[in-house]
Formats: sequence, C-alpha cells, structure tokens
Amino acid sequence: MTPIEWSRPAGAEEVRTALADLRAGDLPTHGGRTLSYVYDSGIAAADEIGREALTSFAATNGLDPTAFPSLAAMESDLVGLARDLLDAPASAVGVATSGGTESLVLAVLAAREGAPHVTRPQVVVPETVHAAVHKAGHLLGVEVVTVPVDPRTFRADPEAMAAVITDATVLLVVSAPSYAHGVIDPVQEVAALAAARGIRCHVDACIGGWVLPFLEEVTPWNFALDGVTSVSVDLHKYAYTPKGISLLLHRDPGLRRGHFYACADWPGYTVLNTTLQSTKSGGPLAAAWAVARAIGLDGYRGLAARARTATLEVAAAVEEIDGLRVVVPPDSTLLALTTDERCDVFTVADEMGARGWLVQPQMSFAGHPATVHLSLCAATASRVGELASALTEATAEAVRRGPVHVDPQLAAAAGQLDAATLDDAALDGLLAVAGLAGDSGRVTVPERMAEINALLDVVPPPLRESLLTAVLDRLTR
Ligand SMILES: *Cc1c(COP(=O)(O)O)cnc(C)c1O
Repeated sequence: MTPIEWSRPAGAEEVRTALADLRAGDLPTHGGRTLSYVYDSGIAAADEIGREALTSFAATNGLDPTAFPSLAAMESDLVGLARDLLDAPASAVGVATSGGTESLVLAVLAAREGAPHVTRPQVVVPETVHAAVHKAGHLLGVEVVTVPVDPRTFRADPEAMAAVITDATVLLVVSAPSYAHGVIDPVQEVAALAAARGIRCHVDACIGGWVLPFLEEVTPWNFALDGVTSVSVDLHKYAYTPKGISLLLHRDPGLRRGHFYACADWPGYTVLNTTLQSTKSGGPLAAAWAVARAIGLDGYRGLAARARTATLEVAAAVEEIDGLRVVVPPDSTLLALTTDERCDVFTVADEMGARGWLVQPQMSFAGHPATVHLSLCAATASRVGELASALTEATAEAVRRGPVHVDPQLAAAAGQLDAATLDDAALDGLLAVAGLAGDSGRVTVPERMAEINALLDVVPPPLRESLLTAVLDRLTR
C-alpha cells in the first residue's frame, strides 16, 4: 500500500475513489445477506431520504437545543412516536442517544443517582442480558448481579431474581427480546417484583422495540406494565435508520433526572447534557426522523410482518436440516441455531461466509451451547429460500469436515491461565498459538475462523476477553 500524502490537497474524485476502495473491503450493508450488524428495509427511497437528512444536518450540534431548535423538535417528535408505540403514559419523557449502549448506561446511571443513600449499588439481571449492561456497571461503579435463566426457555427466572435482591439493588433489567436467544423475558413478573420492592425496572428493547409493537399476540413487555420504569429502543436497528441513534424513555421526568448533567464549575459555558455526549451531530437524529416519516407506521407494520414471517420460515426450514436446530422458538426476529455433535457452529458460520451470508458465531456460556445468531430483516424476506439452501449446504459441509478438534492439552493449559496476570509478551505468545499472530507483532484475522473460535470457546470468558482485547490492540496499533 502506498502511504497517504496528507500534505497535498487531494481532488474530490481522488478522495471518492479512495473511499470506494476502502468500502469495497467491508461487509455489504444492503441486500439482506448480512444477518447481524446491519439492518436493511429494502426500501431504497427511505435509505435515500435518510442519507440526505444525515448529510444536511451533519454539522448541526445537539449540544444546545436552544441554538438548534430543529433538533429539539425532531427529538421530541421521535420520543412522542415511541411513547405511543411503547404504550407509555402521557407523563413519559425520553432522550435520543447514540445507541443502545448509551441508552443502557444512562438507565443504570439514572437508577444509581436515584438512590443516593445506597453506597454500593447493584443491578440484578438475567445472565442473558446484553453485555452493554455489564459495561454500564463497569463504567459507573455499579455491581451487576447476574442470575441464571430458565435452562429450557432461556428466559429470566423471576424467583431467582427475587432471591438476590438486596437493599442495595437499584434496578432490575430484562430484555424484549434478548440478543443471543431472541426470546422475551417474563417482563410482567419481573416488573411486578420491582414495583413491590420499590426498585426500578428497565426493559432493554433495543432490538425488539421497533418490531414487537407491530406484531400480533405478543406477551406484555412494555410500559403497559405498571412496574416498567424505562425502556430503550434502537432506531438504528429495526427502524432501519442510519447508525447512531437509540431512544431511552422513562415513565416520568423524575426518573430521568439522574442522567442529566450540569457543570458550572469552570470558566466556560455552563455544560448542560441530557446524555453522555456533549457536542453531538444532529445528523443521525434528522436521518431517523426522515426515515421514520418516509416509512410511516403502516410501513413499519409491513416490514415487521415480513421480518417475522422470514424468521418463522427460516426456523421451519432449519428443523428440516440434518445436524442443525433452533435453540428456542423465536419471539421476535432473531434466531439462535446450534448443531448436533457431528459438526460445530463455527464451521457452519465459516461455510455460510463462503456462500456470501454473514451469520454471527456466539460462544457457549454457562452451560448453554455455542450458537450462530441471525437477525432477520425485511430485506432478507425475499431470499428465505436461498438462505435455507445455504444453511443446508453449510451444515452438510460442516458435518463432512467434522467438528473442529481442540487439542485437549492446549485447552487444559489455557484453562489454567489467570487472565489478570498475562503481560504483553504472554499475550503475543498465546495469539501465536491461537493462529492469530502475523508479522512483526501484528495480527492477521484469517478467512476461516472456526479453529480460532473453537479454541476461544473452550477458554474461560475472562481469558477470552483478554485475548480478544489483545487482538484489538494489535489490530489498531
Ligand atoms: C444492540 C443491542 C444493544 C446495544 O446496542 P448498540 O447500539 O450496539 O450500542 C443492547 N441491547 C440489545 C438487546 C441489543 O440488541
């Protein structure tokens, strides 16, 4: 690669070509074959108006809603729309954030600040809760107490959650649905429990919040349940808007206050923030507003129905595939699939990739099997037959190859390592053993990941975290 000449101004055509070259190496964001990371409505006109809005508001600043009243108006419009969709009362308020993680961090922050008398606050969650809640706990000094789910249904166990609540518990979190398994937790029971104990209850509907309102016969999961105090929903997922926007709604303004921030303790302008960011582009907000208008509630109803039907069709097709099965019947538009002992999910994922389909491997955890994750979108609905054929072929090939064999000695040795004590040299050595080391301290990510994933699957989660952090570190040096 020739080094970039930063000193000389480049012409627009040259920059455009270079950007196109960079993009050519990425996963496709459209076309319905990428079953995580991206969400495709298949509606080109909605994408186009979203891009236009993103561009025309890119330089606006959400730091000060009085300076850019357009942004305050659009935020209010979207929160109002979400309030109706989530069955929230008239008292409900909300904010637009940069994504699901920020929404969850703010929900935990508001709960912590809402209980100032608690010195060592805890949140109680099912083990299937999104990792972003763990991140929130890590950032905010809040202990995350995880509780096993019901092993048959993969849903939160309200009794087990009740058993670990203490006077320091400031929040319960449940998912609608969970990312890894695609099922809705028993929100009704958990919210009732929270209400009875005077604790907040957050529903993480980051991925389901713009789908479930449009489906028939969904178990209650939103503000219609009294004990639910906040709900998060990502617009950059199933509202099919450009990246960088989620909504966090609270039942009343008092519940929100704890994540507002003010600072007059410096010589500059008084900082007033509703979210973590201070300066923030109005682009994603304007884009979401534009796309939501372009698609409309009737449009979303159709898109949700298509994605849901596709999910059920893929699930039915999987039941016919020898060696592959659905882990638990899906409540929304997400599927977790696993294999029998003749093959492994990591090889299936590689074989899907070789056939132009991206499915996401998920490691085994707490006795639950490793799986591949599929988020089904409207754009995949017209390709269910192709997807089912690819899954059939990929599984047959994985069975032919047999499960990846992890050297038991290597696995045992890895199991003995204490992730906390590994220095850089030790990590370099381990990356080499794992087949990730490239030239001169760099890492290479090979096309086929099954061997590496199988190895990562048998190492304890803290070591997996250390190894993958080391990979990220070396990829970004
Ligand atoms: C995606 C997701 C998140 C995290 O959202 P980001 O936008 O990736 O930060 C949290 N919870 C659930 C259920 C999700 O699906």
